[in-house]
Amino acid sequence: MTTPRKDVFNPIRINAETCVKCNLCDWICPGDLIYKEEDNRETLPVIKYPDECWYCGLCQSICPTNAITVVFPEQMIHNRTDVASLLGKVIE
Ligand code: SF4
Ligand code: SF4
Repeated sequence: MTTPRKDVFNPIRINAETCVKCNLCDWICPGDLIYKEEDNRETLPVIKYPDECWYCGLCQSICPTNAITVVFPEQMIHNRTDVASLLGKVIE
């Protein structure tokens, strides 16, 4: 198993107390970013490629015990970029 990188922001926080190790987050992630050892009810999921997460929230949505929280980085929360300009739209 690949060791998760520690030098990048990890947006996926898993509560080890409430995770029931069901594999659903591994199964649903469209980018295959989450690794969970199958059929092992002892191991927690690992976010293998945190910098490739696109914040779709599917892992959080499917988790049966609400053990996952998707944390948006400050840079995204406070981004004041004019999206209309970015898309090439003109505001009248
Ligand atoms: S938010 Fe989406 S892309 Fe990111 S880890 Fe969860 S399921 Fe995968
Ligand atoms: S979906 Fe939730 S309970 Fe299941 S392995 Fe992932 S974090 Fe744990």
